[in-house]
Amino acid sequence: MDTEVYEVAILGAGLAGLGMGMRLKMAGEESFVILEKEDRVGGTWRDNSYPGASCDVQSHLYWFSFDEQPDWSRVFAMQPEIQANIERLVARQGLNHHIRLNAEITEAVWSEDAALWVITTLSGEQIRARAFVAAWGQLNRPSFKGIEGREHFDGDSWHSARWRHDVDLRGKRVASIGNGASAVQFIPEVAEVAGHLTVFQRTPNYCVPRLDRPYTEEERRMFLDDPATLRESRDGFYWEHEGWIGAMKLQDNPVAQEFTRIAREHLESQVPDPELREKLWPKYPIGCKRLLIADTFYPALMRDNVDLVTERIERIEPQGVRTDDGRLHEMDVIVYATGFETLSFLGHVDIVGRSPKSWPPRRGDGVSLRDAWREGPEAYLGMTVSGFPNMFILYGPNTNLGHNSIIAMLECQFDYVVKALEASKAERAALDLRPEVLEHFNAELQDELRGTSFAGACNSWYKTPDGRITNNWSGSVEDYRKRTAELDLDAYELVPAGG
Ligand code: NAP
Repeated sequence: MDTEVYEVAILGAGLAGLGMGMRLKMAGEESFVILEKEDRVGGTWRDNSYPGASCDVQSHLYWFSFDEQPDWSRVFAMQPEIQANIERLVARQGLNHHIRLNAEITEAVWSEDAALWVITTLSGEQIRARAFVAAWGQLNRPSFKGIEGREHFDGDSWHSARWRHDVDLRGKRVASIGNGASAVQFIPEVAEVAGHLTVFQRTPNYCVPRLDRPYTEEERRMFLDDPATLRESRDGFYWEHEGWIGAMKLQDNPVAQEFTRIAREHLESQVPDPELREKLWPKYPIGCKRLLIADTFYPALMRDNVDLVTERIERIEPQGVRTDDGRLHEMDVIVYATGFETLSFLGHVDIVGRSPKSWPPRRGDGVSLRDAWREGPEAYLGMTVSGFPNMFILYGPNTNLGHNSIIAMLECQFDYVVKALEASKAERAALDLRPEVLEHFNAELQDELRGTSFAGACNSWYKTPDGRITNNWSGSVEDYRKRTAELDLDAYELVPAGG
């Protein structure tokens, strides 16, 4: 066991965990450790190295407002540039000696007597901390749901977030199963080299232009030399995205109509074939599924060596993909762009909170977080769960967005966590959310979510098969900022050491 008691232990060295570390340092807190299961920092930007991987939020907005400006080469940065900037950030901010790589957390247990989290890693090491911050992300466990027979395929296959760079695709027959935000980025790149590419689409998506371009040398100089111009650029993108919130409302409104018009125009300008167009046009309200932002996806589908298949996949066979019209599509390589397991939030980590003896157990409460969330994950402001004192989740349940940068949400969360930790220190007690606060918050949130486009008639990674939205926030970032601006200490029971 590590004998040091840290103030904070953070799970995950993605942008959320690293940003939290930076924010703790800014608050003068040096007693923290970041535990990362892999051998490299970067989270989603480490994992998603597929050809064409990039961020579809502008770089100026997809970076911490409280960090120095990296010198972004273009409006929407590509994955290698983002990953390199994350690694530079770690060095620049002196985070290296706080990070332990290859330290996968298997268990975090709250000790009522000591008012500490006891955290165990895969190697058996134990770490103790007064607070536990879970920054595990929403999109990192590949999903292959509904695809039978993968193990029988004779060729190479992989998930988009586990790209096999050692396999040469030149001249090969390649399948992309899925046409979501990841697929539309690699499809144009793969189409350039593959002998033939077949895109299997189950549901079409709305797609709008990306309007990417490299920054000129003068612009890059200006953003570096004059931070006010960068702030202006960032603010411009931020408020433009906030204005998109209307497209996330179920009621038909001018913003949704405008986005639908732009998406239709994009489709019509890039796809002349009316039959193909209709296959690509969604039948659900805009915003219900993730809006795609891509300039090269439709043109890639127009190539002679690319086909769009809309028949349902029945199963994977040794030679390829069998669709429900009985046809076998023979393949050398299958790429599963089938998304992520997004609904459980927990992965393999066992998190054990307060003993039920110490507070009246109610619906949703339980010793393990897995039990507490058996009817679906929920957390107050996406961050705290009753029965789990001084545990904070970053990018937790109901904090994903359809319209703006997740970095802006994370910054609200960092500030809230810092306030909570300060209160915990001042009160010499851990903060345990009152169950009735969570119940009330969630009832209100779910009610608001019913009026959003996420609740429309589509399936998406935002919601359970019975339609409960577990991943998305119901409003704008500004709404969230207001809700998280103050720490309402009355929402929490103060738990001193010894219970
Ligand atoms: P996704 O949006 O969940 O898309 C998965 C795709 O696979 C969908 O087209 C889905 O079809 C299809 N699929 C899943 N199971 C299938 C099955 N059994 N048979 C046939 N098709 C199946 O996953 P993703 O593209 O990896 O993106 C996930 C999220 O990551 C995005 O929404 C976005 O938030 C984030 N992302 C962001 C960026 C960025 O630039 N910032 C880039 C990539 C990803 P259905 O639509 O019918 O379910």
